[in-house]
Amino acid sequence: MKRENRSLKLKAPRGTRDLLPEDMYLLRYIEDKLRGVFERFGYAEVQTPIFELFELFALRSGDEIRNSMFVFETGEGEMALRPELTAPICRLVAEGKIDVMTKPIKLYYIGRAFRYEEPQAGRYREFWQAGIELIGPRHPEADAEVVSLACISLEELDLKYNLELGDVAVLRGYMTSKGVDYEVQNKVLSALDHLRSRLRKLEVYSELLLKENDAHLLSEVKRFLYPIELRKRRLRAKVEENIPKELIERLEPDSRIYKLEELRVDEVREILKRNTEDLKLMEIISWCYEGLRTSMGTLKLPPDVGFKLLEALKLKSIRAHEVLEDAKEVFKESEEALREIERLNELIEYLDDLNVKGYVLDLGLARGLEYYTGIVFEIHVMGLGAQSQVCGGGRYDRLIAEFGGPDIPSVGFAFGLDRLMLALKMKEIYPKPSVPMVYVAPISDDLRGAALKIAAMLRNAGIACEVELMRRRIRRALSFANKRGFPFVILIAPREYQSGSVIIKDMMRGTQELVSIKDVTDYLRSRK
Ligand code: AMP
Repeated sequence: MKRENRSLKLKAPRGTRDLLPEDMYLLRYIEDKLRGVFERFGYAEVQTPIFELFELFALRSGDEIRNSMFVFETGEGEMALRPELTAPICRLVAEGKIDVMTKPIKLYYIGRAFRYEEPQAGRYREFWQAGIELIGPRHPEADAEVVSLACISLEELDLKYNLELGDVAVLRGYMTSKGVDYEVQNKVLSALDHLRSRLRKLEVYSELLLKENDAHLLSEVKRFLYPIELRKRRLRAKVEENIPKELIERLEPDSRIYKLEELRVDEVREILKRNTEDLKLMEIISWCYEGLRTSMGTLKLPPDVGFKLLEALKLKSIRAHEVLEDAKEVFKESEEALREIERLNELIEYLDDLNVKGYVLDLGLARGLEYYTGIVFEIHVMGLGAQSQVCGGGRYDRLIAEFGGPDIPSVGFAFGLDRLMLALKMKEIYPKPSVPMVYVAPISDDLRGAALKIAAMLRNAGIACEVELMRRRIRRALSFANKRGFPFVILIAPREYQSGSVIIKDMMRGTQELVSIKDVTDYLRSRK
C-alpha cells in the first residue's frame, strides 16, 4: 500500500488555548489567592459536572441560548457544556443535596466554562471562572459582604479595579408598578444591557479617536455605524401605523458616515454623539412600538415606561447618595421603586462600613442574564481593552425555586480567571514558576549513576533538583544550567567524588566550593 506523504497540521480549536507552564503557574497562583479569601469568609468548595442537561440553561434564558452554547445530543437527552456555574449550583441546591435548613449556605467553585461566542482578545470559548454563591439571606448587609469579598479578592491579587454597582430591583419595581409583566421585564433588562454595551462602545471610539485617528479605527467605527444608519433609513421609510412621526423624524440619516475618512476628528466625534442619542431612541421605538418577543407573543411596553427607563441610564455617579436622591425624583410615582431605593440606601451604608469606596452607582446597569432580581455589579480592570470585565455578579432570588427547589434567595459573583491572568501579566513583575534549586552534572559518563544518587538524596531531603539527562559534555551542561537559571550546580568529578566530596557552584555569585557529600543538604538548606 502506498503511504500518503501528508503531514498532519492540527491546531487547537478556535477560541481555546493551551495553558503552558507559565500560564498554569499563574492560574494556580490566582486560584490559591482566591481560595484563601473565599475560605476566610466561610465558603466551602464544590464541583459540579462540566456538562448538564441543556434544559437547565434554557429554562431561564429561553431556547435562543442554544446558539451561544456547545450543545450535543446523547441517548439520554440533550446536553450542554456549562456556560457558567451559577445555574448548576442552584440545581444542586434545588435537588436537595445540601441541608437548606442551616442557612446561610456558602459555596464556592473554580472551574471551566464554555461559550460559543466569537473569540477575541480576552474572550474565549473555553475559559475559567471562580465564584461564590451566598444562599439564604435576602438583606442588604449580605449584598454588601459579597461585594466587599469580590473587592478584597482583587486587592489580594494586587490589582487596581473599578467597581460598578447597580440594582435591577429599582427598575423592576418601577415596571411592576406600571403593570409590566415579569417576562417582559426580563426582556427589557437584557435589551438595556445590550444597549448599554453599545453606548459604551461609542464612548470608547470617541476617546480613541483623540489618540489614534487611523484608518483601522475609522473602518471599525464605520462597521459599527452602518447597521445603525441602515435601521434609521428603514424606520424613516416605514410608513408605519403606530410609531409617532415626530419620533421617527428625530432620527436623521447622515450619509457622512460612508466617508468618515474625509471628515475632521471633531466631526466624527459629533456623529458618534448624535448616534448615541439615536441608538437610545431606536431602542424606545423597538420596545414600545415594535414590541419585545416573549413566550406570550410580541408584547409592547407603554411609551412612558420606555422613556422613564432610558432616564435611568443617566442615574450614574460616584456620588452614590446623589444618585439615590435623583432616582427618588425620577421614580417618585412608584412606591415599589421607592422602597427599593430605600434598601439601596441601606446597602450603601453597609458598603461604607466595609470600607468599599470609589465605586460608581449606576441604576441603568442591567446585566445580560435575565435571572437577576436585585443588586448587580461588574468589576473592570483597566488596560484589558474591550474585555475589561473581570467579575460579574448579582442577586437572583428566584432561581432555586425555578429549578424546583425551595424558595431561597441568593447572591453571588464570578471572576473570569483568564482575564485576571491577562491583568497580572500586564504588570512588570508577576508570579512565575521557579527553576529547581540545583542541577546535578557529572563530569564524565561513568559518574552518571553517582549524579542520580546525589539527586535522589537531595529530593529525599525536600530540595528540588534536576540531573543532567541529555548526556551533555560538562561545558555544554554548564551553559545549559546558566540559561535555565539554576541557582546552584553540583559538579561530580572523579577524584573528588572518590574522596567523598562534590563541587557546588553558586551560579549567581560565580563562586565554587568543595563540599563533603554528607554536608551537601545542610549546605544547600542554609543557602535557600
Ligand atoms: P458572567 O457569567 O457573564 O457574569 O461572567 C463572569 C466573568 O467571567 C466575566 O466578568 C468575565 O471575566 C468572565 N467571562 C465571561 N465570558 C468569558 C469568555 N468568553 N472568555 C473569558 N472570560 C469570560
